[in-house]
Amino acid sequence: MRKKIVAGNWKMNLSIDQAKELILGINRYGITHTLQSEVVVCPPSLYVKFASETFHHNKVQTGAQNLSEYENGAYTGEISASMLQSLEVDYVLIGHSERRQYFGETDEMVSKKAKLAIANNVKPIVCIGETLQERKAGNYFDVIKKQLKAILSFSEEEFQNIVIAYEPVWAIGTGETASPEQAQEVHEFIRKSISDAFGVDVAENTSIVYGGSVKAENAFELFSKNDIDGGLIGGASLNLRDFTDIINALERTQN
Ligand code: PEP
Repeated sequence: MRKKIVAGNWKMNLSIDQAKELILGINRYGITHTLQSEVVVCPPSLYVKFASETFHHNKVQTGAQNLSEYENGAYTGEISASMLQSLEVDYVLIGHSERRQYFGETDEMVSKKAKLAIANNVKPIVCIGETLQERKAGNYFDVIKKQLKAILSFSEEEFQNIVIAYEPVWAIGTGETASPEQAQEVHEFIRKSISDAFGVDVAENTSIVYGGSVKAENAFELFSKNDIDGGLIGGASLNLRDFTDIINALERTQN
């Protein structure tokens, strides 16, 4: 059975005091609730150590927002996969549309980063998704197919560590969500592509989460779709109540 996951991407937000308060709040929530879903919190890298030490013994997991495509050495400002591993970080976001758009992250870099993460026991959450222009032009399946190629060439053993986040760029931080039907259509396509590459069992065991203006009000409907295994949450993950309401929505789909 594939995992159901709610991951929070804090992006470049919150002071250390605010971050600690939110991490402690999510930790309390994780301790006081019996969760079937996995919760992943991806704070800015400076706060990852505090998160990983706080969450260490419960169901809530720590994620990073990025890692270097290089193993180690003279790469000022970068953070390596082995450093994340040494902090017991469980997940790392790779290929988020903001990194593709503002920092020139390519499919080739996504592939390198994902390989390094896996080699260091950090599970990649690989983000893919089309722009508004690509959606309007009707060629979004081609875009998704091309982005998926970066990881479908992995060995089956490597691939099984990957979580995929479908995040239509036009829905990220815009308040505009893909309808459950629009999201399901792409999730189904992604699962079929995985099945073509690795077979039905691997496809059925891969978690594919949706991201793009998920809120407590639309989460249940999205998460109820067959191929949507949870969400990657940006804005709404910065507020304890909003974030836990979204986790509760995913829990309800499993009861
Ligand atoms: C994201 O950053 O991955 C995201 C989905 O953001 P938001 O929920 O704010 O649209």
